[in-house]
Amino acid sequence: MYSVTNPATGELIEEIPNSTEEEVSAAIEKVHRGYTSWRRRPVGERAKIVLRAAELFAERADDLAAIMTLEMGKRINEGRGEIGIVVDIFTYYGNNGPALLADEPLKVKGGDAVIRKEPIGALLGVMPWNFPCYQVARFVAPNLVLGNTILLKHASICPRSAAAIEEILHEAGVPEDAYVNILASSKQIPGILADPRIQGVSLTGSEAAGVSVAAEAGRNLKRCVLELGGSDPLIVLDTNDMDETVKATSTARMRNCGQSCNAPKRIIVLSELYDEFVDKFTKRVGDYFQPGDPADPKVPFGPLASISAADEVAAQVGKAIEQGATLRTGGKRIGPGAYLEATVLTDVTPEMAAYHEEIFGPVALIFKAENEEEAIAIANDSPFGLGAAVFGTDPERNRRVADRIESGMVYLNRSGGSQADLPFGGIKRSGMGRELGAAGIEEFMNKKSIRL
Ligand code: NDP
Repeated sequence: MYSVTNPATGELIEEIPNSTEEEVSAAIEKVHRGYTSWRRRPVGERAKIVLRAAELFAERADDLAAIMTLEMGKRINEGRGEIGIVVDIFTYYGNNGPALLADEPLKVKGGDAVIRKEPIGALLGVMPWNFPCYQVARFVAPNLVLGNTILLKHASICPRSAAAIEEILHEAGVPEDAYVNILASSKQIPGILADPRIQGVSLTGSEAAGVSVAAEAGRNLKRCVLELGGSDPLIVLDTNDMDETVKATSTARMRNCGQSCNAPKRIIVLSELYDEFVDKFTKRVGDYFQPGDPADPKVPFGPLASISAADEVAAQVGKAIEQGATLRTGGKRIGPGAYLEATVLTDVTPEMAAYHEEIFGPVALIFKAENEEEAIAIANDSPFGLGAAVFGTDPERNRRVADRIESGMVYLNRSGGSQADLPFGGIKRSGMGRELGAAGIEEFMNKKSIRL
């Protein structure tokens, strides 16, 4: 069942039944057939349509932000910000796609060859609720320009975002059989991946969903991109402006109510700064991130995406405290909506579940490291490897530390975020493959070698 429940109040607004097997099968046939004509359109035409989609996203930013606020509790201003990057992504691939897809000449032994960049067919996208428009854009914009067609299964709490995105794409000129929404349940995914008319899958979501989708993709020899969870480290080496560092790091952690895969979930501070950092960080989190109505642009902090998400994160915090972590501020569930106070925990040790798990909510863990070596060791002591950040005043030292962090991305003196022209993705249990930038258009590409 798909449903819309307002996380700020807990009120159920709409329920929509899942697509039937027949509807899913018809949708697969549609994108399969649609591929034949979409891929034959000149790349310039496809790019123009994607640029038109960028314009429509920009025009409808307020409406889309309001839908996200209602469906998953995103603060209205953050929603508008999310649409800003969606526009950037569609614009980037619309402008750069044709050049990225140009033939690549190659000198080979005895002559010449060329790498032709072709699409592979109809793809399945399985998308999450935390950035309902941005996550879809990362997958869809490059693949539409490349010439693949798309079957899109959005999170079951985001049917209105899914419908609004589909409407924009069709209005921009993406044919109705090149982009099709399905309200599938996760139980229907294996059947879709087993279907020979589907050539690959991109999933953004939890580790559990990643394991299941990767297994089915493997069984059926389908290409697969996985953007999964993270427990990104942020190392503070030194600072000449502690207040600014605290502001930047706490804002990065609490953005989107802490529900970003690449938020700095583990903050590692060198011992000489630790006490001052913890005091100031705790104070800012307690004072500034006061929960309120996410539809009010003045409110700095909203609910989580669902009651179950808030309960789950509150349970993780409770367990950490029970196992010996120190609660510095927050930790309380507030009803009737999906609110959890912005929380800071310290003294989390490897014996505790919180040390190893991803906490997908407004909870910062702060660790003390005696020196640079220990900070790097803590940073790498995680099953995840999505992003990381290093804050410090010495650029050479920052880069030296960045080189030793096991992750797909490192940000220096900034944290999290994402931009259209910078590849995004992780290693270890954070997934495989890359989205965005030039790398993001290559995942579902047939790099065809033509020997001249
Ligand atoms: P899920 O991974 O369950 O949901 C993401 C998407 O995957 C949804 O469309 C969901 O469908 C679908 N899905 C779930 N299980 C399967 C499956 N077995 N096979 C195929 N598709 C599946 O995330 P949750 O909503 O449960 O959030 C739980 C955790 O996931 C978070 O705590 C966080 O760790 C992680 N997460 C990470 C995100 C990221 O950006 N990397 C984004 C969202 C979550 P449906 O909604 O119908 O269940």
